[in-house]
Amino acid sequence: MAKLSLLLADDEDIIRKRVGLMLGSEFDIEEAINAKQAVEASTKGFDVILLDIMFPDGNGVDICRTIKQANPHSTVVISSSMETLEAWNKAFDAGADGYLEKRELLSTDPRKICLMINSLVERNRLRKQAEETNKKQTQLLSVLTHDVRAPFQALLGTMELLRKSDIPPALSENVERMFESAGYQLSFINSLLELLRFESGLVQPRLYPTDINLAINQSVQTMRSFATAKQINIRAELEEKLPTIHGDIGQITRVMNNLLSNAVKFTKRGGEIRIETRKFLKKGFNGVLVIVADNGIGITDKEREKIFSAFHRGREKGTDGEVGSGLGLSICKEIMDLHRGSIELESRPQEGSVFKLWFPSAQSGDTTVISTNEN
Ligand code: ADP
Repeated sequence: MAKLSLLLADDEDIIRKRVGLMLGSEFDIEEAINAKQAVEASTKGFDVILLDIMFPDGNGVDICRTIKQANPHSTVVISSSMETLEAWNKAFDAGADGYLEKRELLSTDPRKICLMINSLVERNRLRKQAEETNKKQTQLLSVLTHDVRAPFQALLGTMELLRKSDIPPALSENVERMFESAGYQLSFINSLLELLRFESGLVQPRLYPTDINLAINQSVQTMRSFATAKQINIRAELEEKLPTIHGDIGQITRVMNNLLSNAVKFTKRGGEIRIETRKFLKKGFNGVLVIVADNGIGITDKEREKIFSAFHRGREKGTDGEVGSGLGLSICKEIMDLHRGSIELESRPQEGSVFKLWFPSAQSGDTTVISTNEN
């Protein structure tokens, strides 16, 4: 691996010589002997700058501030003979990544100094990477929201007007098909936007003491008509007096809607969906278990491994030709993570699928992410 480049800025010859000997095997070192040289050289993009605090022609803290303003991800370590808290504070206020007293620098095992410098460089590299990813995602969100979703909404509005107007029957079938297809595209874009927002950390959970049965009843009410249209029965066995959980009722309803709509999609006509809630206290986990089980087409072991990742679509369509985005289960997983809970799947092809949601109770004080095996 190529060596990292290091600018060693110090006006004392003896210090430059000793530090050069200590760190020369690990870094490609260039020297600056005064503040002017340090400022000029710093623009060359060194991986790390080891900067004296006092030069006859300038101040290391000011130079550090200038470097960090120009490039916040550069790594600057101040070295100083000043062993005071004030000097230390000034250096960090100016954006320094580290502060080494010269006595310490010259007496410490060089491997430890290298390790410390390398970890600071790596930290800045990761920060830069995270900020760039975040920036790209924000741009993508903005394009999707303004340039893709908004025109689609306008298009759907116009089609809606067209559907209600007097159009020849020969055309009306085409308009219906266009309306349906635009509707699917819009719901895909909405799901994609939702997932991107979760992944960018833009969704802050608003968790309040919540009765989980309430969210489930709401979802069953919404989904029952879809199930009935396929002659699928939804049976709910909800335990009373469940422990209260810290939850966002809107998001929990979203998870339930996703699971129930999948259960309807992937169960043949005349099938059955069972929803169950129960309190669960075992192996240090105190909370609520929600089960959504169907006797539909089931999921293979191979498919199960990828099922919670975005864009995974096992079958292109449901048993009645229903289409999907492949995003629903990854959104469910994000929501469960925000609740510090988890989602699991058990399934057998041709027999059905059982999705399990684990929510920690509000009293449990358990803030760890749960992965509990019921047995
Ligand atoms: P989609 O919008 O495609 O349903 P999901 O992320 O919700 O996206 O589901 C991903 C895939 O997982 C589905 O395409 C389907 O193959 C499979 N799947 C999800 N739920 C079930 C279920 N209850 N029964 C069988 N397969 C399912």
